[in-house]
Amino acid sequence: MSTIEKADRIKNLPPYLFAKIDQMKEKMKQKGMDLIDLGVGDPDLPTPPPIITALQDAAKDPKNHRYPSYSGMIEFREAVSQWYQQRFQVTLDPRSEVISLIGSKEGIAHIPLAYINPQDCVLIPEPGYPVYSTATLFAGGHPYFMPLLKEKNFLPDFSAIPEEILRKAKLMYLNYPNNPTAAVADQSFFAEAVTLAREYQFVLCHDAAYTEIFFDGYQPGSILEIPGAKEVAIEFHSLSKTYNMTGWRIGFAVGNPEAIAALGQVKTNIDSGVAQAIQVAGMQALLGDQTFLDEMRTTYQERRDVLIVGLKEAGFEVTVPKATFYLWIKTPAGFTAEECTAHLLTNAGIVTTPGNGFGTSGEGFIRMALTVNKERSAEAVERIRKLDF
Ligand SMILES: *Cc1c(COP(=O)(O)O)cnc(C)c1O
Repeated sequence: MSTIEKADRIKNLPPYLFAKIDQMKEKMKQKGMDLIDLGVGDPDLPTPPPIITALQDAAKDPKNHRYPSYSGMIEFREAVSQWYQQRFQVTLDPRSEVISLIGSKEGIAHIPLAYINPQDCVLIPEPGYPVYSTATLFAGGHPYFMPLLKEKNFLPDFSAIPEEILRKAKLMYLNYPNNPTAAVADQSFFAEAVTLAREYQFVLCHDAAYTEIFFDGYQPGSILEIPGAKEVAIEFHSLSKTYNMTGWRIGFAVGNPEAIAALGQVKTNIDSGVAQAIQVAGMQALLGDQTFLDEMRTTYQERRDVLIVGLKEAGFEVTVPKATFYLWIKTPAGFTAEECTAHLLTNAGIVTTPGNGFGTSGEGFIRMALTVNKERSAEAVERIRKLDF
């Protein structure tokens, strides 16, 4: 069977850059090295108890054992719309402007199938979440990469996109607060993006997975706060990072009703919605007491500060992030991203992610995730201090 030729869309996928790190990680583990894993963006904190209780109760009710509604229970979509109103002062019609997703990755991956014909362009930030480009390729589209550079505060320079590309563009992905650079965007940047999308008529897809992980009094906005945004934009949200629910698979998209309907049309033909008991738990997450979020942010902030202080003392160049649970760190002179990652892993047992794994403009950076506790973060700093760079 292994001789059967696979489809080009699989064969043409870019090589998995993290495979080498995984291999090295495995080797160090076998040698008995005590690894500190700052590699994956998966919260180590548990899901808050009221959400778990809501799932337990909902799981007992037979009406939750059947096929769910494709677009999500109306109660869940109402909860999303209420959360949006409260958090962003954006009004959403739960029936036409909200759809449930099996994790936001699912929607991000499916939206190109609704809009992309061969030859159509998709504007993609790079470095960035790898799904934007693979989903584009799966749909037969052409990725056009917008580099995120430090000198531009990791915001794409729209004026650098050629006119003919803009005319062929059907979709643009944006992601702020940003993974992997930890950069944030202000409302004037979102307004610029909305103006461009309205002028060239493409769907603006804003991945907002990290809006609730913020520090120092900063609070990220929604792209839908921009007047006219709903004509062209949809926003993807995830309960994964906000409520420590990565394994539960629940998220949602909101915004332009035509785009929401088109995404729904794709999904109806592929999946059958989010398990109802999970949606009930999601409603508890969105509508329940939110004070736990403050504790969570404090936890991340403490870890951030331990690492930042230590890294700076060790001579690293790193910006203090206002949001996300990532640090985007310049590699020391003489080290590529992969060399730096390998050095930290083999000589200090610290797992990090090479920036070029997210796109060529990520070369010269490594990413650390704030997903180990304060004590282990301090231990990581101690180990880094002893290394030669
Ligand atoms: C984690 C993450 C997501 C998706 O998470 P889901 O678990 O699929 O909801 C989307 N975008 C970015 C940038 C992420 O880091």
